[in-house]
Amino acid sequence: MEMKCTKCGKEVTPLELYDGSWSCPACRHSLVTRVDRFVVTHDNEELFRQSEILYGNWLFNHDGTADAELIDKATRLCRQSAQLGNPKALARLAYFFDKDYVGTKCSESTRFKIAYNYYSTLCYSSMTTVETEPGLPPVQWDELRKQTAYSMLRMLCATPSELRDNEQYDLRSNFDRVQNALGIDVDMPTSSGVDERISFADRVFNVLCSCMDKQRAPLFGVYKLTVGDLIKIYKKPFPGKELKNPHALYWLTTSKKVLLSYIRSKYISDGEAMFTRLSTQNSVETMVDELTDDEEIYVFFFNNNGGHKYLNSQGKRDKVKRTIYDRTGTDLLKMMLQNGSHDFYTFYDDDIYFCMKQKNIAEATKALVRKICSGGEEI
Ligand SMILES: [Zn+2]
Repeated sequence: MEMKCTKCGKEVTPLELYDGSWSCPACRHSLVTRVDRFVVTHDNEELFRQSEILYGNWLFNHDGTADAELIDKATRLCRQSAQLGNPKALARLAYFFDKDYVGTKCSESTRFKIAYNYYSTLCYSSMTTVETEPGLPPVQWDELRKQTAYSMLRMLCATPSELRDNEQYDLRSNFDRVQNALGIDVDMPTSSGVDERISFADRVFNVLCSCMDKQRAPLFGVYKLTVGDLIKIYKKPFPGKELKNPHALYWLTTSKKVLLSYIRSKYISDGEAMFTRLSTQNSVETMVDELTDDEEIYVFFFNNNGGHKYLNSQGKRDKVKRTIYDRTGTDLLKMMLQNGSHDFYTFYDDDIYFCMKQKNIAEATKALVRKICSGGEEI
């Protein structure tokens, strides 16, 4: 999708970075879905309608396997609509982040902050009505804000622990602010409601299956999992494919050259410890024999399949791989896991491209790791 960069003025397709943020590929300026003036147009309403259809299809048919793509497309269309000012789309987008339907791209606290940002933009908007293009039904503005406020307050019942001291996310003060801003009575929620979130193992599985995506495939990623979770993932069939060995990861790692390896998390700071390849049924069985189900491991993958807009040849991708991961030294990867603030990351070529200004691919890869280790500051 094209959008206009507010800094350089170019029409660009945003880079989508590992922390869920968007950036201009031309000038690296951050592109946020920041809307303060809502308007419903035929265009943004149509995008929202299509997004809702996909979301509905996903919601009523989802069995945790074949449909990660549906929710992914729904999120993209919804984001476009919200970017164009549709308030219903912004409310839905907040909900997608709130309920963690946006994939493993961002950490728990980033996801929470983005959801809060969208919810609160709507709830605390100073607009009294929303302009609607002729021929479209009017927006029930007060009702929409009231529902959004309620979703936001429910989310604030389960603020991630690292954000609990932050006044901005305090349930009580947001509750008071909602009453003031909307001039209405809402009930103080007592729990965050039913847990509709996708399990972590399912989300990792979805990322791995998307390695075959012809448009946009992940480049590499690393996740802290238990051995038990990895086995669950390993045993799942690849959605929509009839294979001799139906197990998706077996298929991806043997015939499709997706590199998969692991290291026991307690060895992450050991300079000598190495990652172990999981490329055969045997290597998985050995791991199962040696480790218990609840042992925590970091699972790393590198993907040379699928579509990569910015690193469109295997040679370019291999430069990233050699820098972040090779047989003898995986120092950068270990450094990232020790110093970064999260236990799981999914990277696309967008992340490398973002760091590539005046740098070659290897230097850009190192810069990306420095950026993560410094909490996003240094490049
Ligand atoms: Zn720009």
